[in-house]
Amino acid sequence: MHFFKHPAQKWTANKKAAAASVDAHSQQLIFISDKIWVLAETALEEVESAKVLANFAEEQGFTVERGVAEMPTAFIASYGSGKPVIAILGEFDALPGLSQKAEPSKVPLNAGAPGHGCGHNMFGTGSLGAAIAVKELIEAGKIQGTVRLYGTPAEETLFGKLYFTRGGYFDDVDICIDWHPADEIKSNVQSSKALVDFTVEFYGQAAHASSDPWNGRSALDALEFFTNGLNYQREHMKPTVRIHYQIMNGGAVVNVVPDYARIWTRLRDSKAGDVMKHWERLKQIAAGAAMMANVDYEVKLISGLHEVVPNRTGGAALQANLELLGALEYSKEEIAFAHDIQEATDKPLTGIRGEVNPLKETAEHPSGGSTDVGDVSWVVPEIRLRVTTAAEDTPGHSWAVVACGGMSIGHKGMIYAAKALAMTIVDLFEDEKLRKDIHEEWVERVGDYEYVPIVPEGPPPVPDHVMGIGEN
Ligand SMILES: [Zn+2]
Repeated sequence: MHFFKHPAQKWTANKKAAAASVDAHSQQLIFISDKIWVLAETALEEVESAKVLANFAEEQGFTVERGVAEMPTAFIASYGSGKPVIAILGEFDALPGLSQKAEPSKVPLNAGAPGHGCGHNMFGTGSLGAAIAVKELIEAGKIQGTVRLYGTPAEETLFGKLYFTRGGYFDDVDICIDWHPADEIKSNVQSSKALVDFTVEFYGQAAHASSDPWNGRSALDALEFFTNGLNYQREHMKPTVRIHYQIMNGGAVVNVVPDYARIWTRLRDSKAGDVMKHWERLKQIAAGAAMMANVDYEVKLISGLHEVVPNRTGGAALQANLELLGALEYSKEEIAFAHDIQEATDKPLTGIRGEVNPLKETAEHPSGGSTDVGDVSWVVPEIRLRVTTAAEDTPGHSWAVVACGGMSIGHKGMIYAAKALAMTIVDLFEDEKLRKDIHEEWVERVGDYEYVPIVPEGPPPVPDHVMGIGEN
């Protein structure tokens, strides 16, 4: 695999203007991020959060299409016309149960409520800040083409971007770019794990568990046979595979032989093709489990994700802009806040990593997580950024991420990310050769794999009370 190395980027008038635009809007962006942080709405319920972002884009002169890809909380904000078309992804969904104050010890803002444990309040808002900076350059006639912000809901569960790729919303996009809150600054040229999410339901026959258990056929027995089979199977799968499950239903009371049981299983590996192969094996285990317990069963696909197609050419262009921006610096108070977080989460008191990491080699196998950005990267070349918004080693999806994302450590990272994205988009607009080389690398990596989103037929699972909201 070869990639194209372009000469180091320089501060140009357009990049200075892009960074200055982000600075000029920084108070508004921080206000929006904090608002979404407090709203903390979960997958496909992000009604107010989507509205805050889309309304601000509209006020800034973007044309906004709401309720796209059959999701009331999805939107596309667009400015400019013609080629190139550069897209920026923005997420804004929260995680259940992680409500937290912007304080360095575990104190919920609203006990039991959701919280932004993945920092998506900053993700969507920072991306909007970058889109505005680029829009202002187009408006001033400094660059030509189209910039779009894709407001993509439900990254944490249900995977909103699948419905964008299925609907062909990226078909005319030349290059896409995104960022994610993190505990380090880097141009991300690593892949992610592919996965498939599915349920297995078992249907038996209820009976009194003591008077006439011989009349019963237990759905729960089948579920246990299934997990046993699955756990034995682990030994015969490569260490790149991950399988996790939750028992969603195992019966209601102890004196009834359960006639219904349901398990939600997530299977991951480095490539979607391998995931689908392992899934076939797990389906056989489900069939065997049902046979042993003499019950019926049904396997249902929830959805699946593809691994990210990395792009080192685009990653190197982004890296050059990170080096122009340089390290983030922190006040004594911010470092003390980080130390408190680290103490509370049993981590060494190392503070906050503000320096720019060098561009790393792309590993053959990704380390752990998955993202629906992966699916986008199969239909359009994707450039990916990570920026520090939390103390070093902050546990992911935790109260500590929420705490940092609601105060200045998070705000600083978000503003930095908006600048880095905008500056890289300036390069993409100005440098046709860069766009061509990014595309060429992408074509080579995708090869002859025919991408099909792993998603059941029919509309996305939008909750009833959200239907109809946000449509044009
Ligand atoms: Zn996330």
